[in-house]
Amino acid sequence: MRRRHHPNKAKSNWVYDLKATRSLYDVSRNTPLNWIKQGLHPIDDQKPVAFRGDELNRFHLQRRQNLRCRLEPHEFFCVGCKRPKLPLDGEIEAIPSRKGAARITGVCPDCRGAVFRFVGPQGTSAFFEKYAVKSRDEK
Ligand SMILES: [Zn+2]
Repeated sequence: MRRRHHPNKAKSNWVYDLKATRSLYDVSRNTPLNWIKQGLHPIDDQKPVAFRGDELNRFHLQRRQNLRCRLEPHEFFCVGCKRPKLPLDGEIEAIPSRKGAARITGVCPDCRGAVFRFVGPQGTSAFFEKYAVKSRDEK
């Protein structure tokens, strides 16, 4: 299960190794390593990897703020990565909604989960021009 972590969970002056980090946030084995890829900085000269508490807090606060950031007109939001993404292979599917609006979905190039975006009637043509629309029948 994915969840947001409170940005003040770690004690700033503490050092957390991987095991302590996992148990602090109650996350699975690879999650702290994924966080490094997403911008969490480990303590440089420490082996095995460890994090300072204030860095953990900084990282989670920043993640939270990223969730609020607005998408570019052609971007999608990946629920898994919790970040704006462009759809894999530039392919989208559009599910028509009320009054010309559409729910547009694609595949996240990183986690292969679904990315989506709800687009109003004025916005849909920009997506149809930029991306290849997969027909549902082709599957
Ligand atoms: Zn993703």
